[in-house]
Amino acid sequence: MKHNTLRVFVPCVVPGCAGSTGYRKRHAYKYHKPVVFEEHLPAFEDAVVRRHVAALRKAAMWLLSKVATLNNLVKHVAI
Ligand SMILES: [Zn+2]
Repeated sequence: MKHNTLRVFVPCVVPGCAGSTGYRKRHAYKYHKPVVFEEHLPAFEDAVVRRHVAALRKAAMWLLSKVATLNNLVKHVAI
């Protein structure tokens, strides 16, 4: 029996993005990750560092809780 996998298209959660997707991970990797984490970006430029910090804070909130901090996120990183 074939499963009916109906994709639900929802608006992207990134502020300012008009994207709508049923494939959130693919959308994020294609449209949002490159702007923040591409290797060619100057890693120590203020604007790039701000984007890194903002993205990691958002990840902490999404993965842990609305009040999570970067320190909370680091506690979950295996080194
Ligand atoms: Zn988006």
